[in-house]
Amino acid sequence: MFRSLHMKLVLIMLLLITSLMAIVGAFLMTSVTGFYIDEFYQQMESVFGDSSSTSGAFVSSLREEAAQEDGAQKLQNMIESRAGDLGLNSRTRNYYILDGRTGQYLTGSEDKEAFDHLQTTPNLLTARNSIASGTSVVGDRSDITAGYMDVAIPITGGDNSFIIYIYDNRDTVSELNSQLFLIIVQALLVGLLISVLLSFLLSKTMITPIERLTEGAERVAAGDFSSTIAVESTDEIGILTTTFNDMASVLQDTLEAVENERNKLDTLFLHMTDGVVAFASDGSILHSNPAVSQMLGKEVSFYDYDELFGQQFPFQQVMSLQRPDFVSGELTVGGRILELYLAPFSDGEDGGVMAVLHDVTAQRKNEEMRKEFVANVSHELRTPLTNVRSYAETLRDSEDIPRDMENSFLDIIISETDRMTHIVQDLLTLSRLDSGRADMKMVRFPFREAIDSVCRAVELEAKRRGHTLVRKYGAALPMITGDRSRLEQVMMNVVGNAIKYTPDGGTIEVDAGITGQNVWMEVSDNGIGIPKQDRERIFERFYRVDKARSRESGGTGLGLSIAREIVLRHNGSIALTDHDGPGTTVRIVLPIRQEENGEDHHE
Ligand code: ADP
Repeated sequence: MFRSLHMKLVLIMLLLITSLMAIVGAFLMTSVTGFYIDEFYQQMESVFGDSSSTSGAFVSSLREEAAQEDGAQKLQNMIESRAGDLGLNSRTRNYYILDGRTGQYLTGSEDKEAFDHLQTTPNLLTARNSIASGTSVVGDRSDITAGYMDVAIPITGGDNSFIIYIYDNRDTVSELNSQLFLIIVQALLVGLLISVLLSFLLSKTMITPIERLTEGAERVAAGDFSSTIAVESTDEIGILTTTFNDMASVLQDTLEAVENERNKLDTLFLHMTDGVVAFASDGSILHSNPAVSQMLGKEVSFYDYDELFGQQFPFQQVMSLQRPDFVSGELTVGGRILELYLAPFSDGEDGGVMAVLHDVTAQRKNEEMRKEFVANVSHELRTPLTNVRSYAETLRDSEDIPRDMENSFLDIIISETDRMTHIVQDLLTLSRLDSGRADMKMVRFPFREAIDSVCRAVELEAKRRGHTLVRKYGAALPMITGDRSRLEQVMMNVVGNAIKYTPDGGTIEVDAGITGQNVWMEVSDNGIGIPKQDRERIFERFYRVDKARSRESGGTGLGLSIAREIVLRHNGSIALTDHDGPGTTVRIVLPIRQEENGEDHHE
């Protein structure tokens, strides 16, 4: 109950008021008593003179009166005459005339019985002792705690000695103090009431903004940064509220930035080609991106670490690594080669293992192809080089070679050199196409004319081989955009192959037409054909179905790969077409217009 600031404030106010009133009350009451005692002795002094001596005029006349026979009565008269100055009243302050030697009651403002009820006070004893010893000391010391005030004046006149004893029972001061106490208690009650009201008011002004701040903090804790708390004062709480609002807005900005970063990472995680899986410390999957399932060929969320990678790297081994250490290995899954990297991502209970999978299938394949290519090039060049060298050596070492044999050797050397030049030229063309350095000189030209010129060029060779060259295409072929000489090179290669790989006396058909936005050209022969398993591969570099026959006919195995590169650069396609019967059909498709910039419109 007293935990709330509100109650604490009320309690503090109550304690403050009560202690204040208690101090004021005690101080007041002590002061009043002190004042009353001072007043008493001042009155006594004004009548009897200085307390240390009894040499005042009134005391002298008292002594004279005391010397007379009815001294006690005389003294009484004298005292009565100064009753006003002495503040005597029969209720609280009385006087008694006592016998100086015995201390017996002689007369007074009260009767003997009343005097006998009084105790013997130190002042009375002092006065009696002073008379006995012949001195005249006034006993007038009074204690604030004594509960009474008194003064005893020894009066000696002639043989007579008396003690004038004035006794005040302090009832007046007690009554005054009771009155004061009552007033203080009443004041205390009113003060308490006011302090309760005040503390309520004060706490309202102090606590309301604090309560509002608390509500605001609760809203922020719940993630609602939209509402700011109104600042209604410039005091410390006002400053705190402003600071809180600033803090909330900075927090919102920071959270937004963090959220943005997280979204970026999420998007990256979702779309990255590398597979990423995070495992918890018990080996279960925390996160995984779609690439992982794709690479491993199964939905990984149904598995745990041990099932996925446990055989290669035990979980505890990876967990015991110190960051940034990691382990790596290679997996082969469904014909894919995957590089696997495993590392712990954090220490302790909340830690786990992060696995990254990198698909290196294409890279490995490229490397393989590159190696194969280099081996092929070396092989293709070595054969003619060996031939050239051996014929050259024979010519050098043999002295009497017949002239016609020498010529035939030299012819072989020349043809092998041509072959090598041919290979090197083809390789250069391919490398230019690969690196994008081979510019296509795009022009508009009649498609039909290009086919015609290719057919004319091979006509003689076809005739020599006894082939029948059939041009099936009609006159209605459009103008197309492309690099004319390179496209003619492609056509030449395809028609040349048909002639080369068809036994003498075959039939080679050339057809062309339009489909949609494209033109097509088909070259069919009834030659040796291409076995099913080789059909996909004949566009690869140096790939030949029958190496001996290709080499014999001067082929390099690069013709179709160059053709494919050129056609692709024209956004077209080149492929084998299935057809009935023996032989081969190659189909080239080219767009009529090229979309690319820089198209040259020379016609
Ligand atoms: P090459 O210089 O050896 O002719 P190509 O790249 O032009 O090289 O052809 C690759 C291989 O495809 C040839 O070696 C040949 O085995 C096969 N080929 C191409 N065209 C035909 C065809 N019309 N008939 C049969 N085989 C063919």
